[in-house]
Amino acid sequence: MFCPKPRGECPGASSWDHSPDVREETAMHDHRRLGRELELFDTDPLIGAGLPYWLPDGAAVRHALEEYVRAAERRAGYRHVYSPVLGKRELYEISGHWSHYSDDMFPPMELGAEQVVLRPSLCPHHALIYRSRSHSYRELPLRMAELGGMYRSELSGVLGGLTRVRAIQLNDAHIFCTPDQVADEARGALEMIRRAYEALGITRARYRLSLPGPGGKYVAGPEMWRRSTALLTEVLDRSGLPYETAEGEAAFYGPKIDVQVADGAGRESTLSTVQVDFHQPERFDLHYIGADGAKHRPVMVHRSVVGSVERAVAHLIEQHGGAFPAWLAPVQLVILPVSEAELPDAEALARRCAGLDLRAEIAGPERGSLGARVREARLVPYQVVIGAREAAVGEVTLRLRGGRRLDPLPAADVLARVGALVGAHGTRLWDDAVPAKA
Ligand SMILES: [Zn+2]
Repeated sequence: MFCPKPRGECPGASSWDHSPDVREETAMHDHRRLGRELELFDTDPLIGAGLPYWLPDGAAVRHALEEYVRAAERRAGYRHVYSPVLGKRELYEISGHWSHYSDDMFPPMELGAEQVVLRPSLCPHHALIYRSRSHSYRELPLRMAELGGMYRSELSGVLGGLTRVRAIQLNDAHIFCTPDQVADEARGALEMIRRAYEALGITRARYRLSLPGPGGKYVAGPEMWRRSTALLTEVLDRSGLPYETAEGEAAFYGPKIDVQVADGAGRESTLSTVQVDFHQPERFDLHYIGADGAKHRPVMVHRSVVGSVERAVAHLIEQHGGAFPAWLAPVQLVILPVSEAELPDAEALARRCAGLDLRAEIAGPERGSLGARVREARLVPYQVVIGAREAAVGEVTLRLRGGRRLDPLPAADVLARVGALVGAHGTRLWDDAVPAKA
């Protein structure tokens, strides 16, 4: 359980997690400033605007997030694919992107007699992968996932940090299914989103049913729009989630459920999405063989659990003020030998952490007094102090981010319990219910 109040104002439960005071100072700040200060990502004018690179600590956060998503998808029956970030112009003419979305696409590159385009979405590639093999109704729903690159030709004036970028890594998936399976698949996707937000500590999110609006950017087909809107409305109504409808926010090929989050300045953006698409299966002439032996048209459900990793990490930086849930933190444990004499014990503990896939770092006495080192590591979830007395008996003194200090525990117990909490992808830093001696 996480208590949003400053530690001093906590209503009671001492086992609740508190982020350090720095959270109150920085939570509402811009992820761009924090990203630089915490050395998570940066940009270089020679690489270009809207093309950030990830520093090792940022890459560790991103890797943890991507692995969480891939594992959740594997458990939910998705199969992962890889597809190239380029495609021929004809591909996007068929998908409809060329006529409905070209303002957001990079200009095509001439390659001999061909034109190739940096892809604006992964859907056309996935439709072709589906089409490359014949499918029986028994294979449906067929859930195809990829954390893949896509590109958006944003104007340089609006670029910044990780939220407005030209190169996007999208947590994407397409579910090819029968019309009867759409509602269950959309519900399953919403449940994955709910669980991910719980793991990520995202507490404020608004659900929106995004419908077409006036203007010509949408594909035609009133019956198709009516059916897909009815399906998503039913899913939302039955979910019990509060939601609002917004006209003019649909994808060009269909309506969608968008999950909206706000940044420190109150600006809203879409993180997660679930979309129903009758259009692209038609355009790509997708089919499956039904129980009757005849060809039938599948529906495509497009869904993203955490959206683009850039926007997701930007939101997590702002939401947590850099004090990430332990499973996401770039450094999960900082090991603090009190003096030079405990350095070998600290190094041995760091090796054990590495062996357990825990990200640990040693902050030795050369980096200042113990108090100064604890302050410097205030965003690290677990601060492990080893003094002469602890070293003699193989124990450590653990401080949790936020200031709580535990009685000395055997180092093996600490690692086992931290490993279990990290592996459970929760937001709490400690569980007093678990016996100290496991
Ligand atoms: Zn898609």
